[in-house]
Amino acid sequence: MGARVARIRRYGNRCLRRRARSVDAADRRTRELLDTLWATLLADGGVGLAAPQINRDCRVVVVMDPERPLGEQRLDLVNPVILETFGPSVAFEEGCLSFPGLYRTVWRPQGAVVEFDGPQGKQTLRDDGLKARIVLHEIDHLDGILFIDRLPFWTRLLLSPRLIPFLMSEYWRKISGKGRSG
Ligand SMILES: [Zn+2]
Repeated sequence: MGARVARIRRYGNRCLRRRARSVDAADRRTRELLDTLWATLLADGGVGLAAPQINRDCRVVVVMDPERPLGEQRLDLVNPVILETFGPSVAFEEGCLSFPGLYRTVWRPQGAVVEFDGPQGKQTLRDDGLKARIVLHEIDHLDGILFIDRLPFWTRLLLSPRLIPFLMSEYWRKISGKGRSG
């Protein structure tokens, strides 16, 4: 509680395209980063947030588990690895806090088995619903992959004019020296 809310970086910022580094789940800084991600996620009303989206080069993700009761919905994933995906490809409309207001249908495997570092060592998560969808989206962020990369070629091409404002705002932030994120 009381964790600070971080600024979410938008499309066009290079921090979204890096491959993040593994971290120590027991490290106090990792716990603090998880708290910051969760506070930021709640403040922005999202369902998942990955550390690169707040310019932290760490394989750390928080997900809101929609199947759990309020107050118990936080799921921390440190160094998550996809062990397996299963089921048919499913279409679902996705958004991303790094692309405010942009929603597109993305095809992903229905289910996934993910291993991650929990407080007591390795844990696995198996899901074939909305949680799997969110987790796969967030793990992509750790490898610098964005949901627009998962769209069919023609959809991406038609989308590109809508991405220009994101790139422009990033450019203006850079030349005005504001919001430099390193
Ligand atoms: Zn995202």
